[in-house]
Amino acid sequence: MVSKGLLVVVSGPSGAGKGTICKELLKNNSQIKVSISATTRLPRTGEEDGVNYFFINRDKFENMIDGDDFLEYAMVYDNYYGTPKEYVMNNLENGNDVLLEIDIVGALQIKERFEDAVFIFILPPSLEELKNRIIGRGTETLSDIDKRYGSAISEIKQVIKYDYAVVNDDVSRAVKDIEAIIRAEKSRVLRN
Ligand code: 5GP
Repeated sequence: MVSKGLLVVVSGPSGAGKGTICKELLKNNSQIKVSISATTRLPRTGEEDGVNYFFINRDKFENMIDGDDFLEYAMVYDNYYGTPKEYVMNNLENGNDVLLEIDIVGALQIKERFEDAVFIFILPPSLEELKNRIIGRGTETLSDIDKRYGSAISEIKQVIKYDYAVVNDDVSRAVKDIEAIIRAEKSRVLRN
């Protein structure tokens, strides 16, 4: 599918700092719209329905799968996460760029459907720093921390499937890198 706006897919392991980077990116780039995912995960302290995620139960999520309401979805750490289709399609059609912060399984589904989407992988500066960030967040139980760190190691190997890797050793520099990637992609004459 070729769309009018640019679809920007950002992935990276838990603790790489994608959330912070995406928030900063959106502050200064009003033409980029962020897609709010649906999830069956419970909200963390401070998270709001309709802001961070649409928090829905498993039945509703599975109904949405059956109704073909998702552009992509995946099971991540025992919960469903998915991108509602309508918001993304409407914005792309209106010429807005759309940012998806999703996992690798979902990103590969988007790759199948959108030939001109751009795929960016956020890397932590080091594995040690990654573990500190997962622990420091203080929102996960010990077994969740182990689970997230374990999958982070295997996820990092998937960077090869992305168009760009951005190392998050400094948030504002990482944001500038992403802005440069988006500018370059929008100036492209030929697609792959
Ligand atoms: P968290 O529970 O920390 O908010 O997110 C866990 C993982 O789910 C992250 O890697 C995040 O990028 C991913 N994720 C969030 N929303 C979606 C989505 O709509 N689809 C997919 N495939 N992954 C998502």
